[in-house]
Amino acid sequence: MRIAILSDIHANLVALDAVLRHATDSVVLDGVWCLGDTVGYGPQPTACIERLNEVGAVWVAGNHERAATGAIGTEDFNPDAAAAAEWTKATLPDDQKSALDALPEVLVQDSFTMVHGTLRWPIWEYLYSREAALAHLQLQETPFGLVGHTHVPMLVEQAEGSGNNCELYRLSDGAEVKLPEGGKIVLNPGSVGQPRDGDPRAAYAIYDTEGRVITLHRAAYEISATQKLMKEARLPRWLIDRLQLGR
Ligand code: ZN
Repeated sequence: MRIAILSDIHANLVALDAVLRHATDSVVLDGVWCLGDTVGYGPQPTACIERLNEVGAVWVAGNHERAATGAIGTEDFNPDAAAAAEWTKATLPDDQKSALDALPEVLVQDSFTMVHGTLRWPIWEYLYSREAALAHLQLQETPFGLVGHTHVPMLVEQAEGSGNNCELYRLSDGAEVKLPEGGKIVLNPGSVGQPRDGDPRAAYAIYDTEGRVITLHRAAYEISATQKLMKEARLPRWLIDRLQLGR
């Protein structure tokens, strides 16, 4: 089976559709796993939720799903993120908000634990540092973990018998991660709708269950099309500009 691993779509339907086209160009997808922040920042939250439902995605909530329904406030968001979250909240229909509220924050699929941030603080913590990675790994009961939130493709490896230690690596286009027979890994596929590693192309991963390998991909999309919709929706300027910078 081939599973697409997506995160941080951020209401960028043009990027999401580019990723789904890019993925299905080479393989038939048997599933879609999504690591949260499907909405927030971008101009098409309703359509992104519909698209994920169409492809049968299984999905954990991020901080932006929670803010979009009012389940959490936006005091801890920066001003641009808060403005976009308020816009999203006003835009989404009630039935979609109920569906978002029902999403879990942690989900186990096969040998994978899915969470937006970390298992220590599921919707808030950025898994950037070794300290955060180790705290997460201690709580990860499955051998493999999937996280999002940072918008930066990354791998954490904890070799079997390495004690309380681990290594962190950035992942670029085409990187292949073989699932280890012992030890643990945590993988971040990067962001579909708002990459922040300097490469503005949409990031995602494909998990090949037979080959036991996860491959990172980048898909170019029409950034200006999303930016135009954001301007029309009067979303904050920096959120529009940063898409072409990949930051
Ligand atoms: Zn995000």
